[in-house]
Amino acid sequence: VKDNGRNFYEFFEANMNEYASERLMLENNLRRALAREEFVLFYQPQVDSRTEALIGVEALIRWMRPNSEIVPPGDFIPILEETGLIIPLGEWVLAEACRQHKEWIRKGLPPIPISVNISAIQFQEKEFLPMLSNIIKESGIEPGYLDLELTESVVMQKPEFVIKQLKFIKEMGINLSLDDFGTGFSSLSYLRYFPLDRLKIDQSFVRGLSTDSVNEAIIEAVVALGKSLKIKTIAEGVETKQELEFLRKLECDEIQGYYFSKPLLSEDFIKWFTNR
Ligand code: C2E
Ligand code: CA
Ligand code: CA
Ligand code: CA
Repeated sequence: VKDNGRNFYEFFEANMNEYASERLMLENNLRRALAREEFVLFYQPQVDSRTEALIGVEALIRWMRPNSEIVPPGDFIPILEETGLIIPLGEWVLAEACRQHKEWIRKGLPPIPISVNISAIQFQEKEFLPMLSNIIKESGIEPGYLDLELTESVVMQKPEFVIKQLKFIKEMGINLSLDDFGTGFSSLSYLRYFPLDRLKIDQSFVRGLSTDSVNEAIIEAVVALGKSLKIKTIAEGVETKQELEFLRKLECDEIQGYYFSKPLLSEDFIKWFTNR
């Protein structure tokens, strides 16, 4: 037993070391990727549920490795958050999104509202507001075209601090969306104190909407909540015509999902927009 125990421990330790060194390598690669600007933003269209007109895009990050492998955000955002690297990366994302918004205008497109995901760590960092206002100034974006997507986990921590911070952002003229709505533990009674413009109904409620009456009831309730609080609702992860029609029937305001388009590189987004 003793022997086995020791063998197991050695086995365990070897694996831990392997895990730790792989982790360290990934961390170093991410640091280098940040310095070399190996990240790119993709843009996913958001449309009006009735008219299907474009109402905005969500910026979604990808890591383009030198070996041309495309790494999705789920594989590196958690590590960036643990190491604090999310702060410089988040700043880069905001600046890049605002720069892109202006570039589309220069290329003759109408001004396109752009949504940017903000991580909780980034939002709580004390330099967040000055950084945000700097980027607005330097990029020249009209703040009403910028929308910040925050998750319930951000909003539910230290509500007094969060409300103050959100009000400041609203005073700057920036829009606010509550992302992945329904998956966290937000207290509905708190919602009215947050100056939100939009609730993003999580894709888990949209999936299988045509066969799942519970999801239908949840979405109906969120839309009703939005209406009474005068907050728009957008459904994400919409993949089928059936899902779209259900959401229309439930009077959800806006739609985002593969049914209209996957996230696209800027050039492909321009093609998508001009070919419609
Ligand atoms: P999210 O903010 O909930 O973004 C929606 C995710 O759903 C995106 O995955 C998008 O590509 C995917 N999606 C959109 N439509 C459909 C659909 O019809 N069907 C399916 N199956 N999926 C759809 P992605 O791009 O892999 O992003 C994953 C998560 O990574 C995002 O979830 C967001 O939390 C985070 N993320 C992405 N970019 C950033 C960023 O710049 N900063 C931060 N902090 N987080 C980011
Ligand atoms: Ca989002
Ligand atoms: Ca989401
Ligand atoms: Ca999500």
